[in-house]
Amino acid sequence: MPEVLVRIEKVNKHFGENHVLRDIDLDIHSGEVVVLLGASGSGKSTLCRCVNRLETVDSGVISLAGVPLPDEGGELARLRARVGMVFQSFNLFGHLSVLDNITLAPIRVRGLSRREADERARQLLDRVGLGDKADARPAQLSGGQQQRVAIARALAMDPQVLLFDEPTSALDPETVGEVLDVMAALAADGMTMLVVTHEMGFARRVADRIVFLDEGRVHETATPDEFFDAPRTERAREFLSKVL
Ligand code: ADP
Ligand code: MG
Repeated sequence: MPEVLVRIEKVNKHFGENHVLRDIDLDIHSGEVVVLLGASGSGKSTLCRCVNRLETVDSGVISLAGVPLPDEGGELARLRARVGMVFQSFNLFGHLSVLDNITLAPIRVRGLSRREADERARQLLDRVGLGDKADARPAQLSGGQQQRVAIARALAMDPQVLLFDEPTSALDPETVGEVLDVMAALAADGMTMLVVTHEMGFARRVADRIVFLDEGRVHETATPDEFFDAPRTERAREFLSKVL
C-alpha cells in the first residue's frame, strides 16, 4: 500500500453558524486520484481550500506526508509550494507571457535561476500540449489553453499533490476535453490528485476513489464502478439522478 500523502482527520469547519465540514476523515495515498462529488454547497471547495491552508480548520488535523499543516510563516509558504491548486478561474497574469506566468513562482519562491525556470517551463508546456505558446499572452489563448497553462504553472512548483476545484466549469464545452485529457495524463503518470468536478465521465474513468460529500459530511466512499452503478445511499442516488 502506498504511503498516505494527505491525511484529513476529524476536520470541522464553521463559517459563523454554518457548520460546513463535519468530522471529515479522508486519506489520500501517494499516486491516488480522489474525486470529490457533492451538491453545490456541500463543502467541496472549502475542503480543498483547507488542504492547502487557504482556510484554517476549527478542529481536527490535516497533514502532508505525516507533518501537520503549519499555521503561518515560512513553513506555510513551503507547504503551499508542495500543494498545487488549480481553480475554476485560471487567474493568469494578463500582462505576462505564458512562459513568465509559469516561471514567476519558481524563481521567486524556489530560487531557480531564470535559465533553469525557463527550461522547466518549456518542458511543462510541451507536457500540456502548448509548446508553441510560450511567448503568447493569456488573452490570446482559449479558455482550455489558459487552464492548461495554469496546470503547467502549478506543476512548475513540483507539488506533491495537486488539487483541482472545478477546473473545467468555466470553459466553453469544446475546450473541456483537452483539459480533462491533460489531467488524465497526469493521473496516469502517478500524480496524487484531489479533484472536484461535475464531469462524471472523467470521474468514472480516472478516479481511484469517489468521495461523496453531503452537507459537510463524507456520506459515501466507493470505487467509481460501485458509486455509479450501485450507490449505497439515497442521497447519492438522488445526486446521480440529477447529474447523469
Ligand atoms: P461547494 O464547493 O461544495 O459548492 P463550498 O465549500 O463552497 O461548497 O461551501 C460550503 C458552504 O460554506 C456553503 O454553505 C457556503 O455558502 C459556505 N461558505 C463557503 N465559503 C464561505 C466563506 N468564505 N464565508 C462564508 N461562508 C462560506
Ligand atoms: Mg465549490
